[in-house]
Amino acid sequence: MSSQMQRRDFFKVTSAFLAGSSAITQPGGAVQERAALPVVISSANGMKAAAKAMESLRAGGKPLDAVIAGVNIVEDDPNDSSVGYGGLPNEEGEVELDASVMDGPTCRCGAVGALKHIRNPSKVARLVMERTDHIFLVGEGALKFALRMGFEKENLLTEESRRKWLEWRSKLSARDAWLTEEESGTEFGEVIRHYGTISCLGVDAAGNIAGTTTTSGLSWKIPGRVGDSPIIGAGLYVDNDVGAAGSTGRGEANIKVCGAHAVVELMRQGKSPEQACLAVLERVVRTTKEKRLLGKDGRPAFQLNFYAVNKKGEFGGAALYPSRFCVNTGAESRLVNSAYLFKRAQA
Ligand code: ASP
Repeated sequence: MSSQMQRRDFFKVTSAFLAGSSAITQPGGAVQERAALPVVISSANGMKAAAKAMESLRAGGKPLDAVIAGVNIVEDDPNDSSVGYGGLPNEEGEVELDASVMDGPTCRCGAVGALKHIRNPSKVARLVMERTDHIFLVGEGALKFALRMGFEKENLLTEESRRKWLEWRSKLSARDAWLTEEESGTEFGEVIRHYGTISCLGVDAAGNIAGTTTTSGLSWKIPGRVGDSPIIGAGLYVDNDVGAAGSTGRGEANIKVCGAHAVVELMRQGKSPEQACLAVLERVVRTTKEKRLLGKDGRPAFQLNFYAVNKKGEFGGAALYPSRFCVNTGAESRLVNSAYLFKRAQA
């Protein structure tokens, strides 16, 4: 029951952009790429983050400091229910966070997965990189490490996120002890399954590159589920000789193609950031064979975004379906259209 219900919820969230459906197969919506340094790009929820990162780069800050300072704003924001404090919880009502950081100049990286109680997993990921001989800490071990590094344990579940979780939980089964809407006489409202993440990539005036991706992952996930965000090569990859890539959207689809690494490798071979993102999305389409993940038209019934920037400051973004991303080449962040594979699909 529970998995069917989850699937139904999953399709409900995707149908927002799948509804109404006429598909095109040509990439569309592309933005004009511009070479300008320094440059910061991020997922569309990163307007403030990219501005903060740019401010830091213009003041001579290091790219890694800049992008982490940027995403910390979103991690701290209770109103972003997909990242850090206020993120939507797992199926047991507990917030579990994933994050990765990667520093081009030093070729180092760090990550945490399924981290509870610490609102800034990107900072913990950075300390894994700087203070340990490891790259990836998860769960209880990641929390212990964070506490040893002086982070404070806190309840990351905001009232709003708790309410959404409770609504979801109460609708899960008619056979358990949680009352239905009618039985309880309370309107639960629509309960959908959420994805959401921030990925932020920065290149300084000298062409040095860093990136971070941080998230509360898929809402109502099975405890312990780790998405693509903290996986080096999937949710994030940086090569100081070439460029950087990050991703948001259905992590399970990205992990299978090691997306961010693939994007950077294609840029190394000469593709533009946007072309590289589109080529990897085509792999995602080829590797999505599960019927439950396909719409009636046979196309993926989920969204996946890639963002990429090269050493020269050319940037691009692409997604399976129309989407936007954030760019900052000066004081102000702006949203630009991503290229996409399919205009719309059938639910
Ligand atoms: N990629 C994230 C994950 O799968 C979620 C998202 O970006 O929406 O955990």
